[in-house]
Amino acid sequence: MSEIMSINDLDLQGKKTLLRVDFNVPLDRGEVRDDTRIRAALPTIRELLSRGARIAVASHLGRPKGKTQDDLKMDPVAKRLSELLGKEVLKLDYSAGDEVAAAVEKMQNGEILLLENLRFEAGEEKNDPQFARLLAAPFELFVNDAFGTAHRAHASTAGVAEYIPAVAGLLMKKEIEELSRCLDDPGRPLTAVLGGAKVSDKINVIKRFLSLADNLLIGGGMANTFLAARGYGLGDSFYEKDLLNQAAELLEASKDSSCRIHLPPDLVVTRELEKGSAWEVMTPEQVDGNWKAVDIGPETARQYGDIVAGSAMLVWNGPLGVFEIPPFDKGTKLVARAAAESSAYSVVGGGDLVAALEALGLAGDISFISTGGGATLEFWEGKELPGIAVLKKK
Ligand code: ADP
Ligand code: MG
Repeated sequence: MSEIMSINDLDLQGKKTLLRVDFNVPLDRGEVRDDTRIRAALPTIRELLSRGARIAVASHLGRPKGKTQDDLKMDPVAKRLSELLGKEVLKLDYSAGDEVAAAVEKMQNGEILLLENLRFEAGEEKNDPQFARLLAAPFELFVNDAFGTAHRAHASTAGVAEYIPAVAGLLMKKEIEELSRCLDDPGRPLTAVLGGAKVSDKINVIKRFLSLADNLLIGGGMANTFLAARGYGLGDSFYEKDLLNQAAELLEASKDSSCRIHLPPDLVVTRELEKGSAWEVMTPEQVDGNWKAVDIGPETARQYGDIVAGSAMLVWNGPLGVFEIPPFDKGTKLVARAAAESSAYSVVGGGDLVAALEALGLAGDISFISTGGGATLEFWEGKELPGIAVLKKK
């Protein structure tokens, strides 16, 4: 993967550049509530500006489904970007067409503007070639820094590359390098921790790590499905009935694999999934009636923590319990603490897990946190991501 070209490999002076970023930030009454994604693109933006490029930044925001929606305009994003850069950021009312072409024509080296929400245009998500051509028209170069959207073949992630040369921004380059480590040159033992709600969302990642990792630690709702596949009733716990056969096959396959699948030996259970509701710790066979398994138990957290502590590399996707409702964040917290304290190189992905680690104050101890959710999963599955496939190779 290292052969992909990035902005480091080009002369950028005076280049009219379309920069695709992921500025799909949460808004609150017309203000950016969390600017993490804007900050993530700053190294690329600063590099482009300092090397004399003329950049038009483009992103989607929310799900306007091809129509203009006033509360999803990019103005609050332009304001925050301008504050962070300490520099004026002109915001346009369109993402493509005459207004954009005229504004780009007037730009000087080292200037930046922000285009309107790409998804106001029906052609964006359809990857309509006509829209892609219009989007690309004013520019000489396409820089993709939107790793989080790289698994989508949209006009602004893939289509534009038909018309102008496409290279990676610094965030995209870093994501590719970091997420490739566990696939290309894993430290051993390599441990994969997989949690979150559903086996169905992550079945291909489970398969991939089954052939790659030394340990597979399963938690979250996903663990319930595996435990049910082993024959436990699990009371009223969430699990996927239609995935039982596939889960059983994976457990069977692991017998011939050098990777060990670990399932929780104990679970935190509750009757009401609410803050402050009573809970108990049970073994899987004890869970019946209207009990729901909502987190890994303390013995599981201890065992998983030990395995993490003895690993050279750790990859982790998905929380190990219903972290939104404390104390059911405890399993995730204990394993995250083990990761933080270990010398393992740790790479974490997945929107909910990252949110959980941030809420727990443990995100800073992780070696690399991916900005992707679905994109990270597809990358680890080994799929070719459309937004990466179009980038030039060295
Ligand atoms: P990520 O975004 O990190 O990939 P997912 O989207 O797959 O994670 O899953 C996150 C969701 O899984 C959370 O909303 C969490 O409440 C839920 N979850 C975790 N453990 C359980 C469980 N035991 N039962 C039901 N839901 C769970
Ligand atoms: Mg999620």
